[in-house]
Amino acid sequence: MTFNRNRVKLKKLLGIRARLALLALMLVAPLMLDRVRTLEEFRAKQIAQAAETYANLTSHTAETQREVVSSVETMLKSAAYIRASAGIGRSCDVLRASLPTNLPWIRSIMFVSRDGVVQCSTLNVQVGINLGDREYFKKAQDTRAFVFSDYLFGKTNGRPMMMAAYPVAAINPEEDAVVVAGINIDWLSQIMANLGGQPGMSAVLVDSTGVVIAAPSDHASLIGRPLDAVPLMAAIAEKALSYDEPSGSVSFTAADGTERTLSFARIAGTQSRLIVSMDEAKVTAAINQQIRTAYLQLGFVCLFVLLGALVGAEKLIIKPIEVMTGMARRFGEGDWSARVAKNKLPSEFVPLARAFNAMAAQLSQRERELLASNDRLTVMASIDALSGLANRRGFQSRLDFEWLKSQQYDCTLSLLMIDVDHFKLYNDTYGHPEGDACLTRIGETLSGIAADTLGFAGRYGGEEFCLLLPNTDAAQALAIGETVRTAVLGLAVPHATSSHSIVTVSIGVATTKPNDNHRPGDLIEAADAALYAAKHRGRNAVVEHGFGKRVDEAGMALAS
Ligand code: GH3
Ligand code: MG
Ligand code: MG
Repeated sequence: MTFNRNRVKLKKLLGIRARLALLALMLVAPLMLDRVRTLEEFRAKQIAQAAETYANLTSHTAETQREVVSSVETMLKSAAYIRASAGIGRSCDVLRASLPTNLPWIRSIMFVSRDGVVQCSTLNVQVGINLGDREYFKKAQDTRAFVFSDYLFGKTNGRPMMMAAYPVAAINPEEDAVVVAGINIDWLSQIMANLGGQPGMSAVLVDSTGVVIAAPSDHASLIGRPLDAVPLMAAIAEKALSYDEPSGSVSFTAADGTERTLSFARIAGTQSRLIVSMDEAKVTAAINQQIRTAYLQLGFVCLFVLLGALVGAEKLIIKPIEVMTGMARRFGEGDWSARVAKNKLPSEFVPLARAFNAMAAQLSQRERELLASNDRLTVMASIDALSGLANRRGFQSRLDFEWLKSQQYDCTLSLLMIDVDHFKLYNDTYGHPEGDACLTRIGETLSGIAADTLGFAGRYGGEEFCLLLPNTDAAQALAIGETVRTAVLGLAVPHATSSHSIVTVSIGVATTKPNDNHRPGDLIEAADAALYAAKHRGRNAVVEHGFGKRVDEAGMALAS
């Protein structure tokens, strides 16, 4: 029961509009969910793609750096060959003449003696300076292999630079000189240009101690600074420097709380490594913006579907129902002409409207028939079957009507009360059926006179008749009374037990000008009183009552 009650409550709560809106939502929900899934997939794909792009950029840049390093190594090796095969003087000449200009990252190449003194150089200013205290120089001598230095400052001009060294002993163990090249680190930064200008991304080339050697132009200020002292990079410094693999990629939450992806690659032949750090939030910001716009569009679509459903429901269902309800209400209030305009309704409602209109037409037809039969019944109820005249009821209502009419037009109204004399005796003498036949004949006579005088005849009750005479004054009424009396005499219906030997009538006449001081009943009473007087006068007589005017002592006027 509780469940059923709840269902009823729910039904009340969910009108047609709400249900249609719900239906519309149910229809678009799967589409929406599918769209959301696609969008989320798109987001994940975009992020993965971005990460891959950066990883590719990183390895590509690292590859270019490696090529630079290997070209330096090749250059140094060939210089070492020259040094090993020719004497110092000759090789210096060759060196100066052969420094290729198509390797712009090599600033200078020099031959350095065992104790570190620059013997000759493609840059004259460098001749004579001592590199004996430089780490890379010692290391090249010790390892007899190619060495790439960390970040350092030039001895001649104090500018930041890197150096590469290759001992001639690697070719000829007899020789103890070292070939050294100054590397243009600006060039390294230029190689990284393609890693710059990306939102949420920082790329740096660091040496073995973590000092930034090169960076894209937007991070140029970092060059020469240790990584862990740079605000943004400090968060990733520890991670970036702790990996020993040649290259890799790792995602982690940095010390500053940002989600980062780190790609790094060692530059072969050197201690340096390329580090690219990506702030996922910033990289995905653009993607998220795209996704947000798509969600907004989705929201709008839903809203429009919902509005469409509501407007549709209003126009296609609610309005037609209201139209039909309005018509039913008008019909219920008795407006039988109420019909639904079918052309204003959606086609689905047309059969219903047609049925409604047919029902309305049928009901109004029934109503008309009912009214007609009611009228017939009313007429029947006010007619006396025996005489064919109006019965007392019919007479009363006609009297009320004529009273009002006479009052309205300020006319006189007369009434004749007609009673058959000694009718009890007639019945006793001839029997009741014969009595009835006699009453019928008198009724017919009266009906004829009523037609002639524009009067209204009725059977007031028993053997008593009445004749209402509108627009008839007392004198005319008396005359008509006389006509009635003689007409009945003219019938010459035998009545053996009457003193007149035939059937006679006594007639009381009353005339008045209807006004607010009198009622129709007063006219009947007056006519009755006159009738009583007529009986009193010996019957077969017409007596007028002085109704509404000064009369003689008895209040009656004798007509015959
Ligand atoms: P009066 O001259 O004083 O009018 O005498 P009366 O006998 O006519 O009057 P009373 O009132 O004494 O009697 C009326 C009679 O009319 C009594 C009744 O039997 C008779 N009557 C009334 N209605 C009918 C009817 O419909 N058919 C017949 N046959 N007789 C009726
Ligand atoms: Mg009577
Ligand atoms: Mg009588």
